[in-house]
Amino acid sequence: MSIASEGLDSKRHRALPVPRGNAGMKTFTPDSSIASDVIPSPNYGERTKGRVPDMIVLHYTGMPDVEGALAQLCTAGTEVSAHYIVLEDGRIVQCVPEAKRAWHAGISTWAGEEDVNSCSIGIEIVNRGHDWGYPDFPLRQVAAVIALCRGIMLRRNVLSHRVLAHSDVAPGRKKDPGEKFPWHSLANSGVGHWVHPAPIVRGDTLKLGIISEEVRDLQQALARYGYGVPITGKYDGPTTEVVAAFQRHFRPARVDGIADLSTLTTLHALLSSLPPEAVVTPPAAVVAAK
Ligand SMILES: [Zn+2]
Repeated sequence: MSIASEGLDSKRHRALPVPRGNAGMKTFTPDSSIASDVIPSPNYGERTKGRVPDMIVLHYTGMPDVEGALAQLCTAGTEVSAHYIVLEDGRIVQCVPEAKRAWHAGISTWAGEEDVNSCSIGIEIVNRGHDWGYPDFPLRQVAAVIALCRGIMLRRNVLSHRVLAHSDVAPGRKKDPGEKFPWHSLANSGVGHWVHPAPIVRGDTLKLGIISEEVRDLQQALARYGYGVPITGKYDGPTTEVVAAFQRHFRPARVDGIADLSTLTTLHALLSSLPPEAVVTPPAAVVAAK
């Protein structure tokens, strides 16, 4: 080994803050060949009914430093974990084997599925998040997320429209990874379903308090894409939260929970570019059609 490569190796492994109490845990071979480290987390269970993962959920850690995030995700008793953590320098740490059910999504729903943890792989991206200044995601980190997702998609046959944000599956509770996350860059590399957002223009909007057929149509369109939204025809609090989640992912220039023309146009462009079998039939839509 040359001195140069020793230097590189020690740099790679320097300052990875393994939580105390983790030393005795049984390690495992990472599922992803680009994971550089394994820090086993005790916080996982079995996937229910032998489910295999067909979805990827992206998160940010939302903590002031990486030490705290690793401790949170890899220490017994916190009841949270993820399969992978992607550091700001692009290093990828695996914490839970992909075959197991990590505890990352919490109470969530997507396309009628309420046990998101059993059918997904959770990736935590180190970023302080909205409560701590919400820095940009470094390109090196974004590139690592892309490479990690591409590997999982290939190995697990995860389709692009099944790569989602935590905010998509838990819109009332979560904002991560948030409107700064460069979904367009991921899409350029074949990760995630995305269309260019329609430009923001002046015009009529749907918003909190409105009751109309247009609101029902909006709710149906969101549900057909996969969002968990009640189809009531009333623009209520949950509808506002789902529209904001949609905007964070697909129309990030303005996240206000108001369905303007740009939001509606972008939603319909996404729906019409989904593979037909991916369009969800919401139960309420079936009732409404009778
Ligand atoms: Zn999250």
